[in-house]
Amino acid sequence: MTQPVETDDAAPLDDARISDVLTRWWGFDRLRPLQADAITAALARRDSLVVMPTGGGKSLCYQLPPLVDGSTDVVVSPLVALMKDQVDALEAIGYPAAALHGGMSQEERQAVRDRLAAGELRLVFTAPERLVNTGLLDLLARVGVRRFAIDEAHCISHWGHDFRPEYRQLELLRDRFPSASIHAFTATATPRVREDIARQLNLRDPVELVGTFDRPNLVYRVVPRTDRMAQTLAILGRHRGEASIVYCISRKETERVAARLAAEGLLARPYHAGLDARERHRTQEAFTRETIDVVVATVAFGMGIDRSDVRLVLHTSLPKSLEAYQQETGRAGRDGLAAECVLLYSSADVFSWESLVRKSAAESELEPEEQERLIASQMEHLLSMRRYAQAARCRHAALSEYFGQPYPPAACGACDVCLGETDSLPDATVTAQKILSCVARVQERFGVRHVCEVLRGAKTDAVIRHGHDRLSTFGLLAALEQRAAENLVHQLLDQDLLARTSGDRPVVTLNDRSWEVLRGAREVVLLEPRAGKAKASKADADDWEGVDRDLFERLRRWRRRIAEARGKPAWTILDDKALRAIARERPDSPAALLRCKGIGEKRLADFGPAILDLVVGREET
Ligand code: ADP
Ligand code: ZN
Repeated sequence: MTQPVETDDAAPLDDARISDVLTRWWGFDRLRPLQADAITAALARRDSLVVMPTGGGKSLCYQLPPLVDGSTDVVVSPLVALMKDQVDALEAIGYPAAALHGGMSQEERQAVRDRLAAGELRLVFTAPERLVNTGLLDLLARVGVRRFAIDEAHCISHWGHDFRPEYRQLELLRDRFPSASIHAFTATATPRVREDIARQLNLRDPVELVGTFDRPNLVYRVVPRTDRMAQTLAILGRHRGEASIVYCISRKETERVAARLAAEGLLARPYHAGLDARERHRTQEAFTRETIDVVVATVAFGMGIDRSDVRLVLHTSLPKSLEAYQQETGRAGRDGLAAECVLLYSSADVFSWESLVRKSAAESELEPEEQERLIASQMEHLLSMRRYAQAARCRHAALSEYFGQPYPPAACGACDVCLGETDSLPDATVTAQKILSCVARVQERFGVRHVCEVLRGAKTDAVIRHGHDRLSTFGLLAALEQRAAENLVHQLLDQDLLARTSGDRPVVTLNDRSWEVLRGAREVVLLEPRAGKAKASKADADDWEGVDRDLFERLRRWRRRIAEARGKPAWTILDDKALRAIARERPDSPAALLRCKGIGEKRLADFGPAILDLVVGREET
């Protein structure tokens, strides 16, 4: 999607300078294709709209240009945590950047303003309301700022998933700084949001750069949920000592799961909006400094979490949309190394969401038709999510296509379907017929649990009271556990081969398609209701190719100590990719170390001797 970029009064582009800055400061050997285009546009001071999925490398697009042309640029960001992390990471490579936010003292802010006025800073991060309302604009005009980067730009649009009214004030930038260029960055892809961003920010003929949404290093799995806790433990067992995020729907659930994980000896803590700010902050810090491995969280946890080595994102319940799922799983593997995303799926969640959606619409102050519209749009999102979860087709393909990008037909090698992990149930049609006829025998007047109890031959009070132990379908699926039986019923509900009433006490009923199955006019495919066996993906094997794992662990321990001593997130010291590169190459000289990805001159000066000692087996004291 490259469009020619005109240079006006800016210096002619100098690729050599770009790559020089890139290796010297970041230790990277090349720009990703979209980054090159975005940086070209920024250096030419041509407005741009850059849409890149999480982990695509947006920050470099606004971090690099000011180093090349010596300008002072402004980055607008919605959250203090996001700014702080970035400034920390930049300081670690010696980059002159600072943030201005409400969490700072008057003196601290003045110090930043002084450095800004003196032209010492290449980047200043701030929130939209602070930018607009504090006289900062006057200072920026005096300093001659000519480039604004608007991060998380979808916050300006009410079509986006995270509308923030304060972003609307940014519309005045165009008038106040007519000769400056404006660069919007977002990970939200829909064309409507994109248009809205361009209009609200008054972008002038912007270069639109849209990245690929597929994340090839992520392995997606959907596992039928049979036992939340046991499955969670088993999956986390594959990631001992690695950064993991476990998402739950309710606050209570996060606390229950976190307590159980802690009891099992995992370094885990809960995180949700009901905890007080200090507690949340402590958990976030502990996670970024690697003193805990697992955060069990509601969706409140995420934005502002900038740990790049998350190896597992586990959803124990269904997210409410594929947009949400893409965003939450996007927090895995931002360093580009293999990471796993598992969704424990039960269609029971669909019904919980549905009643939640209806309840919150009813409690809103919207007009009845508007309530209906809201419900319809949320149910639509839910349906897409559900289709994704129950479809036995490539997850990468399904996600890419949902976001409007075709995916090559070859097997991805990085999802449960393509890896052949999903087992289908033998005799699924017969099993389905047994379930459906039981629904008919109890006269379509009972819920999932009761139907399954009858099928399993459980003599519960209710079963006996209704005389259901005398039905011909009693005990037809006696070999199944209750959870497994319920899971099969939910699979039938998902495939619309069985229906369910809404309301407080939903009962399962038959529909036309159920009768087709019962008549033998329709074949049924069901998945084996147990946790699938995860195989190693190709990406994972490649990433560890030739890596000395002992050395890697020694390097991580060393990094944790440094991070703690400096009070900085561990990954800002060096990320996992760099650690693996060192543990693979085993450099024996500063020059060899400099050739490892992620090692620039500043890091070499700061950590070179310590790292070289670790490579030859001398632990630092
Ligand atoms: P985003 O903001 O788009 O989610 P980031 O800017 O945080 O993504 O970058 C994601 C990861 O990719 C970071 O670990 C970053 O260091 C790495 N990265 C970015 N650009 C490059 C590059 N050109 N070469 C190697 N690694 C890169
Ligand atoms: Zn696949």
